[in-house]
Amino acid sequence: MRYFETHAHYNDEKFKDNVDEVIKECRDAGVEHIINIGYNVDSSIKAIELSNLYNKMYAVIGIHPSDVGLCAVDQIEEIYNKYENSKIVAIGEIGLDYYWVKDNKEAQIELFKEQIALANKLKLPIVVHTRDASLDTYNVLKENPAKYGTLLHCFSPTEDLVRLALENDTYKVAFGGNITYNRAASFKKYMDMLPVEKIVIETDSPYLPPVPLRGTVNTSKNLPIILEKLAEYKNMDVEELSEIVYRNSLEFFNIKE
Ligand SMILES: [Zn+2]
Repeated sequence: MRYFETHAHYNDEKFKDNVDEVIKECRDAGVEHIINIGYNVDSSIKAIELSNLYNKMYAVIGIHPSDVGLCAVDQIEEIYNKYENSKIVAIGEIGLDYYWVKDNKEAQIELFKEQIALANKLKLPIVVHTRDASLDTYNVLKENPAKYGTLLHCFSPTEDLVRLALENDTYKVAFGGNITYNRAASFKKYMDMLPVEKIVIETDSPYLPPVPLRGTVNTSKNLPIILEKLAEYKNMDVEELSEIVYRNSLEFFNIKE
């Protein structure tokens, strides 16, 4: 079976000394494509540099809502222009996070909108982070559509966001370790509503290790655990599902095999 990692941070400090070894382990586990996600200027540059070092590795560049005020959108555009021939496939991770900080909502929303506009200008899809901000995320995305695709990362389904994903052909949602944590009835209900054609998988490495590996450093070699849980929810053959989510990922990031 082959796996497509749609969201990892091998640009993180944690992997400073062993990235080569970790990537090799992931490849041995069947992980072929890997998308490295930036969250500020430095990590975006690092994501691009890594993508230029490894085959089938790609970069997503952008400013995470936690870095609001610390980086400007112009800097992301400059990076894009500077590394024009690199493997930059989306703008992200961008969005809203009210879990840690709530008193800068307006600034977060503004940064989010500016980055959606940048993605539209560069003809790239977006990768969205949203935490404790479902309604505002819904409103921003509804009023400022990303023309080339929207991927809701670490998807935690809510009525609004599921509706948004279902109403728009260019939307996909990514499940990670979070589907191994939450077995609430509502989660199951939304899983049933989302067709497999809309779903991709991710680890969010080094964060969010799936059950039973909580407390360890998460890497893409754990994707099989997430896929298995998804197959359980969808009542589908793992191998068949693996190929579907793989193709969904290629399609979303506009990557030829
Ligand atoms: Zn992330």
